[in-house]
Amino acid sequence: MAAPVGAQARKLLRDLALRPPLLAARSQVVQLTSRRWLNLQEYQSKKLMSDNGVKVQRFFVADTASEALEAAKRLNAKEIVLKAQILAGGRGKGVFSSGLKGGVHLTKDPKVVGQLAKQMIGYNLATKQTPKEGVKVKKVMVAEALDISRETYLAILMDRSCNGPVLVGSPQGGVDIEEVAASNPELIFKEQIDIIEGIKDSQAQQMAENLGFLGPLKNQAADQIKKLYNLFLKIDATQVEVNPFGETPEGQVVCFDAKINFDDNAEFRQKDIFAMDDKSENEPIENEAARYDLKYIGLDGNIACFVNGAGLAMATCDIIFLNGGKPANFLDLGGGVKESQVYQAFKLLTADPKVEAILVNIFGGIVNCAIIANGITKACRELELKVPLVVRLEGTNVHEAQNILSNSGLPITSAVDLEDAAKKAVASVAKK
Ligand code: GDP
Ligand code: MN
Repeated sequence: MAAPVGAQARKLLRDLALRPPLLAARSQVVQLTSRRWLNLQEYQSKKLMSDNGVKVQRFFVADTASEALEAAKRLNAKEIVLKAQILAGGRGKGVFSSGLKGGVHLTKDPKVVGQLAKQMIGYNLATKQTPKEGVKVKKVMVAEALDISRETYLAILMDRSCNGPVLVGSPQGGVDIEEVAASNPELIFKEQIDIIEGIKDSQAQQMAENLGFLGPLKNQAADQIKKLYNLFLKIDATQVEVNPFGETPEGQVVCFDAKINFDDNAEFRQKDIFAMDDKSENEPIENEAARYDLKYIGLDGNIACFVNGAGLAMATCDIIFLNGGKPANFLDLGGGVKESQVYQAFKLLTADPKVEAILVNIFGGIVNCAIIANGITKACRELELKVPLVVRLEGTNVHEAQNILSNSGLPITSAVDLEDAAKKAVASVAKK
């Protein structure tokens, strides 16, 4: 588990409009936000891109090593690039549980594609952005490799501080963009886009120039940027990230990598895209939680956190850390809660054998605290809860909620505020 993001780093990144999916690499806590969105695999994103006039390499997708070999032959390319398909970035520098190093390989020999694919498919690939044990690779992308003469970075994202879309780019691409943001913030460029007016030619040109595209490449890059922006809008994306957004010695601007996230609220009008959702990378427990409209995130500490809202989840995580503890998981209840959901939530939280204490931190706004309190007491009784439970409730109907808890006769520790709750939860674990 990464250390909590430092306030300074967080502010820097926020100022740079680098939003959750970028932040994800820094801290699993912040990743809470990105999980709200549908993620597609690179090959799915690239299909959408090529269907919309964005330049990507020719490719096939394979589920088995022999399919990968066939695909490599069929491509009939001078050189082939083989890429493991997982949702996390940093694959190039990743390591497989088979021992193979690198989730992205270049070769001129189709036979080698078959051999490498054999060491990828069915094995876990661990990168800077995955859990320690990595993520199982089920598919590989077999693409025509192109020479790259320069790698830049381009992203389009919805930025709260801009109240709309923003282009973020850097002439220093290919590498971990957060390192660039930290060491050379002057190399990160932003271009705010008016969602009504759309992207202006001058904005696309300016970004192309900032990215260092020269001569005829500048127009080509600007054209690609506009097409990417239009795609971003059309598919209700929250982020389109291309790293590297590169150029070839032959004078082509190409999207060598692609990561697209979507706004879950747009599911009703993006049915085809949401149908592509591959939930198999989720932990089974995440899918189980989703069945009850709950969001579950597994972490590697021992304090289970039951919260409402991603912001409160992050705050809870930070404060547990600050008090010397580590969260085991998060369960985000969201709004509009029913008592039965609280019960399911407890069931999921306690299913994790690492859990040694539970911290409930609920702020009742839309949520009625009394419903939460009733759910908690019911769950405690029916699940015969064996670990210490610290509860901090605040907001709507909190007094009734407190009465329900204190009259329940259950060993529930109440906390007056978040700090108090974190201290008590950490202490209850330390005592053991
Ligand atoms: P990531 O590591 O998960 O971000 O995967 P990428 O798709 O970005 O690939 C990692 C790196 O491999 C890129 O930054 C490129 O340097 C390199 N790469 C990917 N595709 C090609 C290609 O077609 N040709 C060449 N020469 N390099 C490539
Ligand atoms: Mn990349």
